[in-house]
Amino acid sequence: MSAFRSDGSGRSGTRRRLVVDVGACSRCGGCVELVPEIFRLRDDTGLIEIIDGAVLDEEAIAEAMKYCPEDCIYWEDE
Ligand code: SF4
Repeated sequence: MSAFRSDGSGRSGTRRRLVVDVGACSRCGGCVELVPEIFRLRDDTGLIEIIDGAVLDEEAIAEAMKYCPEDCIYWEDE
């Protein structure tokens, strides 16, 4: 599985990574439209990525997860 990851820290203090499974992503652009501060579509690869250094707002991310048609945005425990 290929995915872009970004460091994140959960409310519980558990370290988590935000992951976009680019293999499952249909590149609909929904996450970029909803949360352009965190997600972007790379011009060179045509793949979604998590912007380096983005503040990982949990509510905004939850919204993007809710609307992602492929369910390919998720948190992963480190
Ligand atoms: S909303 Fe989901 S399927 Fe659509 S571009 Fe974002 S990650 Fe890919």
